[in-house]
Amino acid sequence: MSRFLSKATSILQPYTPGEQPQAMRYIKLNTNESPYPPSPRVEAAIHQVDCAGLRLYPDPDVTTLREAMARHYSLTQEQVFVGGGSDEVLGYAFMAFFDRGDKVYFPSITYGFYKVYADLFHLRSVEIPLESDFSVNVDTFLGLDGNLFLANPNAPTGICLDVAQIEKIVQRNRNRLVVIDEAYIDFAPGQSCVGLIGKYDNLLVVQTFSKSRALAGMRIGSAFGHPDLIAGLSRIKYSFNPYNMDRISIAAGIAAMGDEVYFKEITGKIIATRERIRTQLTAMNFTVLPSQSNFLFVRPHTISSGALYVQLKENGVLVRFFNKPVICEYLRVTIGTDDEMDEFLQILRRILPCA
Ligand SMILES: *Cc1c(COP(=O)(O)O)cnc(C)c1O
Repeated sequence: MSRFLSKATSILQPYTPGEQPQAMRYIKLNTNESPYPPSPRVEAAIHQVDCAGLRLYPDPDVTTLREAMARHYSLTQEQVFVGGGSDEVLGYAFMAFFDRGDKVYFPSITYGFYKVYADLFHLRSVEIPLESDFSVNVDTFLGLDGNLFLANPNAPTGICLDVAQIEKIVQRNRNRLVVIDEAYIDFAPGQSCVGLIGKYDNLLVVQTFSKSRALAGMRIGSAFGHPDLIAGLSRIKYSFNPYNMDRISIAAGIAAMGDEVYFKEITGKIIATRERIRTQLTAMNFTVLPSQSNFLFVRPHTISSGALYVQLKENGVLVRFFNKPVICEYLRVTIGTDDEMDEFLQILRRILPCA
């Protein structure tokens, strides 16, 4: 480590992304990307980007994309924020709504980035335990003395609370900000709580184009909330990176928002594949959590998950293994195409001879 690192930087434990192998071709079921390409309209829009125009800065207010999103969700532009992936949007929320030393609540098993941000911004993390079946007990999230981050569906479990349960948490923490990270909500039709933001000024809903809109490589995330919350995020953005959305991302995002038919088609296919694979893995003696996302969290019983991860990798299939207490008994398997998943099952049957 450089001797110029600050003490704070030297003790950070950065987020560990899933492997992104650049050479060997794997069936890649490890980072919850879409197995399908983005809408053909995205490709067309990118081709139409005026390259000479790239000499100019992009619109710092990102008006066109925010307008497109507002229209889609029947919101006003003042209720919409966009950023470079939802990770950036979440980071702005950590910067905007906490002072150093404040408490921040999140489930004991959830998206690893919340803890990373909490440490980066010198907050006190409080982890609320999940039930033994990995479900969120709503009663343990009421009346908190700090802001709350909740991924819904949760990661890496895939388990989803319904809108009424989220509303109860928001209602019973009226003086706390409740951030609902809906990275996977498009795989849980009808469960988004974006419809609640007009009713509660303490609810911020964060979404991403990385999973359901097949644009992880483009880096587009969003937040929906009361105009004052959105203005708070903007204060941070204009204090940190005013041009956070480049011209190509903006064009791609607008095109993706405009193709609802394609969006419904690929999310529907992923949901159908997920249900089929869930049934088959259960029949093969795996414990499979009831996921409403684009991945399954599964526990093998005739081999350790660590050994299975290694053997799958040797056979050309990448899944996600978390070397942490409790969840180390499981593997997170992203839903691929039907062909990819059939090959995955075939390889599994070879690795687990008695299954
Ligand atoms: C993937 C993911 C994100 C980050 O997505 P971006 O690519 O940064 O938009 C945020 N939250 C959860 C729970 C995720 O799984």
